[in-house]
Amino acid sequence: MKRAIQYFLIIVLFSAWGIILTNKESFRESFQSVKRQYIDRPCAKPVEYAIGKIDPQFGVERTDLLSYAEEAERVWEKDSGKSLFQYNPEAELKINLVFDERQLGTIEADKLEGELGKLEASHDAISRQYDSLSGAYKKRADDYRDAVANYKKDLEEYNNDVAYWNKKGGAPEDEYEKLKKKRKELDERYDDLEKERKILNDLVEKTNSLAAKEQQVVNNYNSNLNSYRNKFGEAREFEKGVFDGLSINIYQFKEAADLRLTLIHEMGHSLGIGHTESPESIMHYLMSEQEMENPALTEEDMNELKGVCMMK
Ligand SMILES: [Zn+2]
Repeated sequence: MKRAIQYFLIIVLFSAWGIILTNKESFRESFQSVKRQYIDRPCAKPVEYAIGKIDPQFGVERTDLLSYAEEAERVWEKDSGKSLFQYNPEAELKINLVFDERQLGTIEADKLEGELGKLEASHDAISRQYDSLSGAYKKRADDYRDAVANYKKDLEEYNNDVAYWNKKGGAPEDEYEKLKKKRKELDERYDDLEKERKILNDLVEKTNSLAAKEQQVVNNYNSNLNSYRNKFGEAREFEKGVFDGLSINIYQFKEAADLRLTLIHEMGHSLGIGHTESPESIMHYLMSEQEMENPALTEEDMNELKGVCMMK
């Protein structure tokens, strides 16, 4: 009547990973220093400007560039109360958008940042999936272990009874029937436990493959981050724009607010203003702590303007 019953302990493999997703770095860009004074008698009459050449790779319309230039003009004129600039399509001073490796780098950086953002989102989604799956697994595995322990206990009891009656040379009819029933019940429980074990191992497999997928996303993210850092991670200074006396060339900007700030800065040079000390000032040589959304002249900018315009 004895039956050797074997059960298998499940093997749980949770791969651990602890890769920290690190922050992206930004890069700084400098404005070009003033090359030469444009006007002999500053502020006596408005500096006239026109829209020159726009490289189509910037995707900026002439009318848009003009309206940014007009916004820049207003920033200078608002606080000074003077008419400092005047748009004139025939003006000698041209505002140009010149496309080269600087803007190409900006576009590339944008693309990589987008890529990194997508990978981060995908990592988050997989991570949430993993958490819920492994949580479900852990609860189920605990229940399974309890059921296995109970089964073992009952099996032992059954085997002891069988041994007892065998020693006596056999069991009476009613005991025999009882043991037969008990064995049938144990067999059913064994089958159920086996089913549950398979389900648990499936869960383990799914969880492990999610972990592998997550690892892949993390590797992908890290390799993208490395190439981003190699290309754009160093603090680099390059000219976003140049005023050379005859034209304002803009070489690099990220979005409209960036373009506008660069225009305000270069137009400041066209008034004869040099660079300032404070990083918040429009005329600081680096684009760093200026107010991008609502740019305004700082006291330092204003003092420079007063200086060149011989205002009180
Ligand atoms: Zn400058």
